[in-house]
Amino acid sequence: MRALMWLLLAVLVIFALRKKNQSRSTPVNPAQMRPDAADDMANSTADIETMLCCERCQVYFPASEAVMRGEKVYCCTAHADQA
Ligand SMILES: [Zn+2]
Repeated sequence: MRALMWLLLAVLVIFALRKKNQSRSTPVNPAQMRPDAADDMANSTADIETMLCCERCQVYFPASEAVMRGEKVYCCTAHADQA
């Protein structure tokens, strides 16, 4: 009975994921887009920005905020200078 419950859960998850993918892949006519829809898109791409790990404090931060020192990356100039 427990196995059946897990199977049902797995099917639900697959359905949920498919629904999500479908809504993303639907073609959007730019003329029909709301003026703020572009902002929504910009925000969603920011959410999936590459995360980097600071060489000093091991904290993950967006790649756009990275401070480079040679081959190494740091979360801030303070940590880059301390290393
Ligand atoms: Zn750091």
